[in-house]
Amino acid sequence: MTLIGKKYKYINEGNAHIVLHITDTDYVIRIIKENGRTTDINTVSNCVNFVNIIMVPLIFGYNKYNHEIVKLSSQEIANLTLNLKEIRPKHRQIKSVFSKFAIKAPNLAMITPNSINYCLELKPKEGFLSHSFKNISKCYYCLKQFLKVKEKQIEHRSSYCPLDLFSGDKQRMKRGLLNLLRNPQNNLKLFINENVVYNESSNIKKFEDFIKSNFFNSVNIFLDFIINILLGKGNSNLILEESPELTSETPVNCTESKELDTESFLYKLLLMQKIAEIFKIETANVATDKNDHLEYVPVLLNLVKEQNLDLTNENDRIKFLDTVEEKHLALISAVAKDCSIMIAYSLTPKDNSPSIKFGDMNIFYTVSVTDLEPKGAKTLAKRKKTEKMLLEINENILKS
Ligand SMILES: [Zn+2]
Repeated sequence: MTLIGKKYKYINEGNAHIVLHITDTDYVIRIIKENGRTTDINTVSNCVNFVNIIMVPLIFGYNKYNHEIVKLSSQEIANLTLNLKEIRPKHRQIKSVFSKFAIKAPNLAMITPNSINYCLELKPKEGFLSHSFKNISKCYYCLKQFLKVKEKQIEHRSSYCPLDLFSGDKQRMKRGLLNLLRNPQNNLKLFINENVVYNESSNIKKFEDFIKSNFFNSVNIFLDFIINILLGKGNSNLILEESPELTSETPVNCTESKELDTESFLYKLLLMQKIAEIFKIETANVATDKNDHLEYVPVLLNLVKEQNLDLTNENDRIKFLDTVEEKHLALISAVAKDCSIMIAYSLTPKDNSPSIKFGDMNIFYTVSVTDLEPKGAKTLAKRKKTEKMLLEINENILKS
């Protein structure tokens, strides 16, 4: 199977994209699924610029990586459709029309090509109590689990609470990660050289065996490794030490904590998730748009251009967030709430990659974020509707 003249391998797909690894390179091609309408070059270009110029600098404070547009021939698209038919999950094949424009992006699941690369993908979801749920001390994710069971999207509710992961308290973070491992749904995956080793259809014993046979002595120390990275500031000089195994059970309520270091990666991500609420915007006030269009994306890009802003600069970021319309801030937050964190690690040294010392080994790692493409304006209306349903579900839980 070849694409743009190179061999490729299917890795993964979500609602909007299919991710293909281009063999022997350090990049992937994100194939865009067309949702009933043809994507034009301007839309794709705006989406790419939204990631490069707005989302990545807002989360990391610097230009971490760049996405580019590549054009596929109609023959390539026809071959792709045919070849992927056997590989793609059946429930995803409802969307099988691909755009002739695709996105070339760095392969975030790998550090060095042609060596052994591991990658933990986390979709942490909303890490704080949003305005509508403050009074009931239940977070959006935890309540949504009841809805998902009711709608038969999942069989069992997960005990994972995003507020545990974003708490900054190592024991609570460990509890969050363990609960994700016990019931990953689409929020946790582990890869080795892009092959899924663990996901929602795997047995947790398989995960334990894998971790123990790949230089970590226990799942407990592996979780300490991940927590150190999430709380880190991208620096080296870290020495991995095992912390006690988890003893506390999952509490009934979702509790916010303010222990995150303001320099840590998790804090920066949480800040973007909360940015709409920090500016006191209630989703209810802005959730009027029912269309799925992305007209706001060029508006934001023009704002950056006209005011000559560089969002890798802190003062420019503050100015940008101060100037952006309320509804658009809420859409930036919506993207940050639904992104995935990719923690890639390897024993093969890589220039400029930070490392953690574990015994006599150095484990090199990178932390990246994916799924930062803009969301349609109707996301906010949908959210408002779901919040209403979740509050009703909560009433019913209290009554029963
Ligand atoms: Zn929760």
